[in-house]
Amino acid sequence: MLNRARRIVIKSKAEIELMRQAGSVVAKALAEVRKNVKPGISTGELNDIAEEVLNRHNAKPVFKGYPSPHAGGQPFPATITACVNEELVHGIPSYDKILREGDIFSVDCGAYYQGWVGDAATTIAVGRISKEAEKLLQVTEQALYLGIAQAKTGNRTGDISAAIQEFVEQNGFSVVREYTGHGVGRNMHEDPQVPNYGEKNHGVPLRQGMTIALEPMVNVGTWRTKLLDDGWMVVTADSSLCAHFEHSFAVTDGEADILTLL
Ligand code: MG
Ligand code: MG
Repeated sequence: MLNRARRIVIKSKAEIELMRQAGSVVAKALAEVRKNVKPGISTGELNDIAEEVLNRHNAKPVFKGYPSPHAGGQPFPATITACVNEELVHGIPSYDKILREGDIFSVDCGAYYQGWVGDAATTIAVGRISKEAEKLLQVTEQALYLGIAQAKTGNRTGDISAAIQEFVEQNGFSVVREYTGHGVGRNMHEDPQVPNYGEKNHGVPLRQGMTIALEPMVNVGTWRTKLLDDGWMVVTADSSLCAHFEHSFAVTDGEADILTLL
């Protein structure tokens, strides 16, 4: 989602602990969705499951009501974004959209808790999936962790970007250019932007207390995407499969502190 506050905000230890609580609610919602993903369930039902977890923890959905990036477009109406196969990001869940054996389902969720945002995403196999889809999920998730491994003081955002791009392309897939990782905090989108492609030693220097939502989006085919007529759903331009994994984390002088864990 595209509206950006355009500033880097360094968080205190106490603020990072609140972000961890927000992140934990998101992780619980995604875990509950994962548990319920099976052939025959609708993405609308999975949205209800996530929303129930947020409600139970006194958290509010970040995406619901999020303004459309396009003039005159409808605000986002749901708690999760729900995408299947060639659908990349920002899909609106629906009771008419039924998951089938062999699909891959990607789900993104944001929660506000005590004024702080957690933001995470994952892609889930529906029953048995193809070898190619399996590899896509593995490569995308591993790319996320390779990126996170570069997130430490002394490095720059470009070190994260380059690690993701290099690994994905070595594996024969491509990284999406139009949508990027981002700073996260009281707002879902803060600076810096962290693209999933780029060059080592470039970009913004990483500092302790920066909090970032990193989210590689990986396509089997071309990196190009297109926006559908509903103004939200983004699909791969060539209809190839795609996957999306995301964690929010805090930068430290050592290993990054992942905030969107159970
Ligand atoms: Mg997200
Ligand atoms: Mg995000």
